[in-house]
Amino acid sequence: MVEPTNIAALRFDSTAAWASLTRDQQELVGRAALDLVVARGIAEHAPDPASRAGYEAERLALGALLETVLDANILEDHHWVEPAQHGSDFTEVFRLPEVIGPVCHACGCSQEDACGDGCGWATEMICTACHGKAEDVAA
Ligand SMILES: [Zn+2]
Ligand SMILES: [Zn+2]
Repeated sequence: MVEPTNIAALRFDSTAAWASLTRDQQELVGRAALDLVVARGIAEHAPDPASRAGYEAERLALGALLETVLDANILEDHHWVEPAQHGSDFTEVFRLPEVIGPVCHACGCSQEDACGDGCGWATEMICTACHGKAEDVAA
């Protein structure tokens, strides 16, 4: 049975992805990531006017990081996107970063982002809120 999800079974391997970058690319990505973190740190910890400028710097830094990593193709898609299995509702499935921990492959909820009425883990890949629904579909 093909599961109706666009979450890949494999996780994004940031160690392998990092190792695939050239030293120059690593420097670009690393500096952009530091800009982002420092901007957010200022935004959260400083009063205005530094806080306001920090939030705008964070917005710009995230844009710059996305442009550096994705639009300039420093990180090749195959590290985090793969074709879906034949017969799937989706054309692509996505390898999530490890940082999120366990994720429900039906709804995308996770440990720190539970479903509205609360949920737990029915299986390693399905939350209790989705577990009953999956059975309804199968019945
Ligand atoms: Zn779920
Ligand atoms: Zn859930």
